Amino acid sequence: MDSTNTWDTIVIGGGIAGTAVAQRAAMNNDRVLLLLGDRETKRKSRSLWVKSMHNIPGLHGVGTRQIIKDTLSHLEGYGEQCTVLPTKATRVQSVDKDDDLAWEAAFEVTDEEGLVHHGASVVLCTGMMDVQPEIGDSIKPILRYANQQQVNYCLRCDGHLTKGRGVATIGHGDGAGWTAILLHERYGSTQHILLNGEAPEFSDEVLELLERYNVIVHPQPIQEVHGKPTHHGDLEGIELADGSTVPAEIAFVSLGGIVYNEFAASLGCQLDDGGYVVIDEHGESTINNVFAVGDVTSGPMKQVYTAWEYAVRAADAINARKRMARRRAWSKEHKNTA
Ligand SMILES: Cc1cc2nc3c(=O)[nH]c(=O)nc-3n(C[C@H](O)[C@H](O)[C@H](O)COP(=O)(O)OP(=O)(O)OC[C@H]3O[C@@H](n4cnc5c(N)ncnc54)[C@H](O)[C@@H]3O)c2cc1C
Repeated sequence: MDSTNTWDTIVIGGGIAGTAVAQRAAMNNDRVLLLLGDRETKRKSRSLWVKSMHNIPGLHGVGTRQIIKDTLSHLEGYGEQCTVLPTKATRVQSVDKDDDLAWEAAFEVTDEEGLVHHGASVVLCTGMMDVQPEIGDSIKPILRYANQQQVNYCLRCDGHLTKGRGVATIGHGDGAGWTAILLHERYGSTQHILLNGEAPEFSDEVLELLERYNVIVHPQPIQEVHGKPTHHGDLEGIELADGSTVPAEIAFVSLGGIVYNEFAASLGCQLDDGGYVVIDEHGESTINNVFAVGDVTSGPMKQVYTAWEYAVRAADAINARKRMARRRAWSKEHKNTA
């Protein structure tokens, strides 16, 4: 393998995490290939949905699409050293190396054009997507209200908006239960849980707290969401199959996530019970030189700033591994010639 054709790292996924890894790797003077994904993967990515953030100092009201656009434009300045392709990866596999510790191609990544890219490391940044509630066999009724601060998916990002408002959380497991409990404890607001026709699966601990805080659990399927979908923050209530309307001015969805973990699984990385990639403090999976950053991981809270922090950790760890391999190679060569 010609080492000039080998990337120090191949980053798969051009969301908040992947673009940040590519930026840090480029800043570290590493050769980085970033595969952004295609229209379909982008449509199913969380970065596409964040229209306005409130939790990052200095970035109030800024959306993730703008951040990604700005980062990609910055990456153009690195030329070929940081190559960005608007394509998706279709296969990732490890290849045998002569020397396990040498910094050379250890992975082959095939893209949808059939091109094969060689990397000494890979960083998986393919993300996940929240499961949406079905209303009359469709997720569209809820999506119309999503992300205008009416129907929300992230407690940390939008929980503060619930203060003094009636809140409905759609879900039937402990995730939904803990959402209602935390929001009540933190903001004191009236909480409803909408099971949407599903059987409840709350643990005893959650059930006890739901009772203590008078959280109202509604078993009926959801019939309709009332409000003005395109208006910021105008949820008027959620109608149930029995004709009653839950007086919610803001809602959360807590039904779990679909994790885009196929490459991690095929490489043999350990996944947790939810399918998230298990990583260490450097963002490395249980397979050597396979890193994962952002929502696809089991690590920190799934937030923009945590993705950025781990992007730096992973890129720096990759750079350190490359430098150590070179140091070792130098020592070996000089020992032999001494
Ligand atoms: C509604 C909503 C609001 C949120 N608000 C906030 C907020 O206010 N503040 C905050 O900090 N966080 C917020 N978050 C969380 C934040 O959006 C995520 O933590 C962040 O977007 C995760 O970035 P990511 O890059 O890991 O994943 P994603 O953003 O999902 O990006 C994944 C990328 O991988 C690409 N991809 C997938 N498969 C492939 C493939 N095979 N090949 C190549 N590319 C591929 C996709 O095209 C996509 O570009 C919010 C999330 C949601 C859903």
